[in-house]
Amino acid sequence: MKTFTITGYSTALFSTWYFIDELGILFDAGDGVTSTLLQKSRKIQHVFLSHADRDHITGLLQLNQLNARDGLPVICYPRDGQSYPALEAFTKKFDPHIATTVWMPVAPGDEIWIKNDMLVVPLRNEHVDAAPDTVRSLSYKVMQTKRKLRPELAGLSEDEIKIISREKGKESTTMEVRTNILSYSGDTPVANPETWQDAEILIHEATFLGGEEMVAPNSDKHRHSRLEEVIEMVSATRVQQLILGHFSSRYSAEEIDQRLRQLCDRYALNIPVFRLLPGQTVRDILHSQPINH
Ligand SMILES: [Zn+2]
Repeated sequence: MKTFTITGYSTALFSTWYFIDELGILFDAGDGVTSTLLQKSRKIQHVFLSHADRDHITGLLQLNQLNARDGLPVICYPRDGQSYPALEAFTKKFDPHIATTVWMPVAPGDEIWIKNDMLVVPLRNEHVDAAPDTVRSLSYKVMQTKRKLRPELAGLSEDEIKIISREKGKESTTMEVRTNILSYSGDTPVANPETWQDAEILIHEATFLGGEEMVAPNSDKHRHSRLEEVIEMVSATRVQQLILGHFSSRYSAEEIDQRLRQLCDRYALNIPVFRLLPGQTVRDILHSQPINH
């Protein structure tokens, strides 16, 4: 199982960002990203924005101001959001020295290569109401690619395979296999378990614990997840490690942890579950103590 050094902060309404050190990527860019990461923020080469709510993008101003250089960072955003071109124009006027930052509209179907064997694919989610052909809110999957022997050749010897490869080319003996090593939900209602079926690590939002907000389920026009639905959904997947964030600050740490342990029990979820409590920055999340172990 892959592991990464993931540092993050995620509290609904205030700020959300996750930095994956080994991949040089940042999921969302809320306030505090640069003041927390300090010089390490320079390692960020790609930023993947899930949507334009201000708690997910306002950290960009300082991130770019300090770190922009030679076409970096590359800021990927949901293609049809109006805020990003406005923000790009403003930041480049406000800080002319960051003119080389790349702002890249992305949509489902795109592949953003971050390393030779690694790419990020955007997925539409239902946080924001939008026409089917309009992309305003995204989740992201990080995929690792490997070349594997074609299954129909499994019985052959190494020499036999070498001969075929020499005669017909590498494509005839191996095929590309993609593994979902890390996924980020962004803000979203809970999706079908299929969406995250094979994510080795899933970072998912869990804004509500469930209960009081049920009185007025549609009072917020932007849709979110409830903790119980997230745990139930993940229990139906092969996700190996779960990071939960974006809890509403209306809940105390005790309320969140108690409910979380209860739900892991109820749904027999035995994988390590980590959580980012409201107001807390967590460094190296995957090496902190899981809440359910
Ligand atoms: Zn949010």
